Amino acid sequence: MTPDIIIHNGKLMTFDTTQPDAQAMAMVDGTITGVGSDAEIKAMAGIRTRMIDAKGGTVLPGFIDSHVHLFGGAFELDCLNLYGIEGMEAMKAAILPYADANPDADLVYGVMADYAILGTGKTPTRHDLDRILCDRPLAMIAPDHHTVWANTKALKAAGLFDGGKVEAGSEIVMGADGKASGELLEPGAYGPVITMTALGGREALGLVTGRDPQPAATSDQRARDKDVISRGLAHCAAQGITGLHLMDGNRYQLELLSELEAEGRLKCRCMVPFHFKGKDDIARIAAEGVPLRDDFQGNKVWCGHMKMFIDGVVESGTALMLQPYPGDLGAGGNIGDEVFEQSHFVAAAIEADRHGFQIAVHAIGDAGVRRTIDAYQAVRDANGPRDARHRIEHLEVMHPDDIPRLAALDIVASIQPGHAPFGHVFPSTGTEEYLHDHQIPGAYAWQAIRASGAKVIFSTDWPVTPVDVMPNIKSAIAPHHLGAPWTDQTQSLPDTLASYTRDNAWVEFSEDRKGQLKVGMMADVVIMSHDLTSLPPSDITQASAVTTICDGQVTHQAS
Ligand SMILES: [Zn+2]
Repeated sequence: MTPDIIIHNGKLMTFDTTQPDAQAMAMVDGTITGVGSDAEIKAMAGIRTRMIDAKGGTVLPGFIDSHVHLFGGAFELDCLNLYGIEGMEAMKAAILPYADANPDADLVYGVMADYAILGTGKTPTRHDLDRILCDRPLAMIAPDHHTVWANTKALKAAGLFDGGKVEAGSEIVMGADGKASGELLEPGAYGPVITMTALGGREALGLVTGRDPQPAATSDQRARDKDVISRGLAHCAAQGITGLHLMDGNRYQLELLSELEAEGRLKCRCMVPFHFKGKDDIARIAAEGVPLRDDFQGNKVWCGHMKMFIDGVVESGTALMLQPYPGDLGAGGNIGDEVFEQSHFVAAAIEADRHGFQIAVHAIGDAGVRRTIDAYQAVRDANGPRDARHRIEHLEVMHPDDIPRLAALDIVASIQPGHAPFGHVFPSTGTEEYLHDHQIPGAYAWQAIRASGAKVIFSTDWPVTPVDVMPNIKSAIAPHHLGAPWTDQTQSLPDTLASYTRDNAWVEFSEDRKGQLKVGMMADVVIMSHDLTSLPPSDITQASAVTTICDGQVTHQAS
């Protein structure tokens, strides 16, 4: 058949071992129909074939970001962004004009607020925020989405001012005066504040509860939510992304994405999880999870995995550690917060595996990661080995003894290069506040994990860091060198690109149809502005996506 599109004059990295490099490719109806030299492929052209000159740029299978929060990330594109803001004056200068410009907002809401935003070494309290804005609800969320800081008005409006009972692993931090301090740890505590956002918190439900809006969204709300998600998808396509693995979800999101697909507005393929919470009954997996998965099995929108959290994050001292945190975070012997009782966690994992789910567990502390590996071992013991491709998300701190267990149990390491203190995005100093020196050899140990034989996949965890692909690749291939006791975890460019394309396709069980430029594969392709192999690693961000093609359709074209 005559190709719809031919890409020529490119440097194709095909990830097809039988033909690793090529100049040109052709596609018809969303499927790759030819890969070869310019002469071979151009000979296939017909009168209606669209010819795209790659101008010597690298051509890759479309990027797949294997850990994102699409709805929240899309929503936050339009929020007040506090990234890089530090100190009371800078906070006022950012927040007050935004508040004035949004006089009707129920909540003045800032995102990407660093744990050290005050510049004082202390995390914010409601009193700090009251000094910025006291007559309207104001809240800020940390980049990792594990902590929210709220002023007095916001705490009162959310019904949290006097504290209250929250689910395990979450905490309304109380002040010495018996009132909420303003710091809210984990979704179970901050959820009520988030319901005051412009979207009524619907953007966060897949994370906070894993359940649908109650009461159900109105048709106006659905239309608005779809517009937000659609803008987010266009933003991803502009990065060269053709696929996303969502790490929060509910039936509502699967419905919205399916409607976007039917309307021709879905610019990336989306895998959406069933989100199982620490307080959920095991029976929920069969009762809700299995039907959710069975109802959504498209090529573009599907439910394939079950997401769980076993712990929190290091910066707030909620990630589970094998020994107490250093310094203030370790006060009272704090080793972090347990989201699940371990026996419940293991039972949930066994049940999910028994139903054929892939499991993805957020685990950051060395004890959280160990408990997750233990659970996957228990799954294998209970149900027998199978090609499950269970994942651990983040594994930021590992006990070195646990690293070889990943490959031994076929556990996939899902890593976000931009999250490491040497990843350029977050501060490279201050790690001694949450890590002991002896933990550093197992911290953000990308290369040690890869060298152990474990499968390594890359992602951003957008909006924890921007979904932008090239800065995240720079984090991997040109990290800061922090010096001893930190060791060099630099990733090679080919490994990094494979972890962002071929291996992210593999982890979603799509290796026979995605992740390679090869005849018969889905026509998901990105053309880059540069030959990536010719750029020095630290200059890789000069490159950007020129053309993105998903399912044979151009979803992004740089002007
Ligand atoms: Zn995440």
